[in-house]
Formats: sequence, C-alpha cells, structure tokens
Amino acid sequence: MPVLVMKFGGTSVATLDRIKRAAKRVGVEVAKGYDVIVIVSAMSGKTNELVGWVNETSPMFDAREYDAVVSSGENVTAGLMALTLQEMSVPARSWQGWQVPVQTTSAHAAARIEGIPSDNIMASFAAGMRVAVVAGFQGVSPEGRITTLGRGGSDTTAVAFAAAFEAERCDIYTDVDGVYTTDPRVSPKARKLDKISFEEMLELASLGAKVLQTRSVELAMRYKVKLRVLSSFEEQSDEAGTLVCDEEEIMESNVVAGVAFSRDEAKMTLVSVADRPGIAALIFTGLSDAGVNVDMIVQNISEEGRTDMTFSCPTDQVKRADAAMAQAKTDGTINFAELIADVDVAKVSVVGIGMRSHTGVAAKMFQVLSAEGINIKVITTSEIKISVLIDRKYMELAVQALHDAFELDKAA
Ligand code: ADP
Ligand code: ASP
Ligand code: MG
Repeated sequence: MPVLVMKFGGTSVATLDRIKRAAKRVGVEVAKGYDVIVIVSAMSGKTNELVGWVNETSPMFDAREYDAVVSSGENVTAGLMALTLQEMSVPARSWQGWQVPVQTTSAHAAARIEGIPSDNIMASFAAGMRVAVVAGFQGVSPEGRITTLGRGGSDTTAVAFAAAFEAERCDIYTDVDGVYTTDPRVSPKARKLDKISFEEMLELASLGAKVLQTRSVELAMRYKVKLRVLSSFEEQSDEAGTLVCDEEEIMESNVVAGVAFSRDEAKMTLVSVADRPGIAALIFTGLSDAGVNVDMIVQNISEEGRTDMTFSCPTDQVKRADAAMAQAKTDGTINFAELIADVDVAKVSVVGIGMRSHTGVAAKMFQVLSAEGINIKVITTSEIKISVLIDRKYMELAVQALHDAFELDKAA
C-alpha cells in the first residue's frame, strides 16, 4: 500500500482535543488506503520547558543528558496519538526513535540522521498495522545514546521517513496554512505562497523562518520528497497549503520571494587582535571547538598591526564564545584587548532566486532601511540572499518596510 507521512507540530498536538483532531485527519488518509507514518512533536511549550530545566540544573550541560531530557516530550505525544487512533479503531502503535531505529551521528543536540531501516515498520504494516506513530526530533547514536536533531527537528524526521519509505507525500501540519512571504505574525500583509522552490525555502529556513527546519528542506531537495506545508486547523483538501518544489515547477515568481528574520543573534567584537597570518584560523577554530556556530564575519581594517574581528552567533552561545576566547587569552594563543558582546541585534534577510538575474536588490534594501533611519551593522550576501544585522528594536519595522518596498503582498 502507498505510504504517506503526516507530521503534526507542537500546536497541532497541544491538547488532547487537538490530538483527536489530528488523529481524525490521519483516519481520513487511512480510509483512502494509505499506510500512514505519523511524526509528532512535543506539545507546544513542552520542549522549551525541558530546555529550561536543563539550563537551570546545569548551565554548561552534558549534551547527552540534555538529549535524554528534551527528547521526552515527543514520547508522550507519540503514545497519546497511538492511543487516540486505537480509540477510533485504527490499528496504530507508537515508536520511539531508538525502536525504529532512527540512526544518527553522535553530535548531541544537533545530530544528523544517517539511516532509517524500514524493515521493522514495514513488517508491522504487513501484519495489519495501519499507522506508525513516530516520536519526532530524536534518534540513537552509534554509542547507543539518545540524540536530538536540533530545535524544529521533527520536520527533518518527517522528511527523512518520507525519503526512507518512498512516501507519496510528506505533509507538514502546523499552525499556519502554508509558507508565507514573511512570518504572518510579524507582517499582516504577508501573503501565502502556493508554491516555493527548494532553494528559496532552504535560504528562508536557514535565515530564521522556522516554519520548516533547514535540514528538512535539504533532505527533501536531495531525495525529491514531495513536501507540503498546511494547517491542521483548516478544512482538509488536496490543494491546501504550500508545495515546496523544484524551481522549474513555478511559472511566475517575484525577484524577492520572501523576507526572513532571526531575533536571537549576537554581535561579538574581538578588539585589537594581532593582524597576522593564521589569526582568523586560530579564533574560529577555537570557537568551533567550543560549539559556537559563527554566522557573519567581518575583519576591520588594521592599524599598526592590530585589527578588530567581528562575528555573529546565536545569543545562547555567547557564554560559550566568551569562555573559549577567555581561555585562549589565558593560554596565550590569542592576544586581544577585550571581547564586546552586543546581544540586542537581529538579522533581517531578503531571499529570491530572481536575484541571480536582477541587479539592484541590495541597493534597494539599503535605501529602504536608510529611509526608516535604521543603521546597518553587518552585511552578508550570497547568490540569492542579502542579510543585514540591525538593532533588534527595529526588526519588525525593517521586515514590514522591506515587504512593502518589494511589493511582496502582490503576486508576480
Ligand atoms: P510547529 O510547531 O508546527 O513545528 P513552528 O512554530 O515551528 O510550528 O513553525 C510555524 C511558525 O513559523 C508559524 O507560526 C509562523 O509564526 C512561523 N513562520 C516564520 N516564517 C514564516 C513564513 N515565511 N511562513 C509561514 N510561517 C512562518
Ligand atoms: N519539539 C521540538 C522543538 O520544539 C522539535 C519540534 O517540534 O520539531 O524544537
Ligand atoms: Mg517547527
């Protein structure tokens, strides 16, 4: 029988009533003849609570125990979803990651899926089971420890299962009815897209649009998974939501497809480091070894052999960056005057494959920000995106102004 993957995010399983509503949708697909793999998130707010408990107990926590704790939210919803389906007389059982097993790397809190053997679940389908409810976001390392895939990781679990089981489609049910030109919670003028290309979705996701985890888009692109984002609160239909697909499948599109933002950015400046060959390698190796994900980098002009090095990283990694640099200073490996952290910044980006063939997008973006009196602190660009770091208090204003200026409320 054809396999369908249906993923329900945190708000879609936030209460027993919502789990029931989600289970009814699963029942509809089972009645059509699909064997369904349901991927569930933890109830909304649960993972944040668990992360909070870990941080309170141990600020520089052992990531293996972090994973043991934060993976637990999904176990609860998987069991409850299986029970709800059984109550509806749909043959279902729950699977935790290690039971499948979802094999991952040992990179705790940010593990990557390496393999999903399909035999166990296929055998259960063959024996008459119609729904496998799998706890999202989790797996098991080669050492046999529980791992998690990074925040938002259930999306990736869903796409990885769709690829492994050659599912007809991977439906991501969430609290918005598709992918928008920007987060509809920030811009009331945001417009729902019927289709978006893998490339643009990948950039939007990696630049902060949390509607899909970046890695899930990467996998969908690589394995040609038919990926759809839709609401678990609206009427069910085959055309609902947004299809993430190949660029060739989209007839018309705007030069800029969307605006993304990320609130949790910090701008770090190492003041007065020696400007000599190898210094960047030392700094960024040290940061990488400490588990700091550096995003933007700017090296200022040097004066008398000393320079300032600016980089950005997620706000929750500032402590790690601080500790790593302080250690390097004590060791004598990196000599610098001070490390200044500005934690009140945000990143705003415009994304669009049209930028490959249209010039002037960057100029327009900078003019729009300038007209709003917003100062740009750092700029980075790639073929299909431009990102700026600005004061966080202007983030919403910047998103709305850019959305207006690039006329994203209007279809191409
Ligand atoms: P889930 O719990 O279902 O995984 P998430 O909260 O992770 O849901 O993702 C859905 C949220 O993503 C929406 O509520 C919305 O606020 C946010 N979002 C950010 N950017 C976009 C966008 N471009 N289109 C749609 N939603 C977006
Ligand atoms: N529950 C996890 C999180 O909140 C994974 C997910 O929902 O995708 O990040
Ligand atoms: Mg999510």
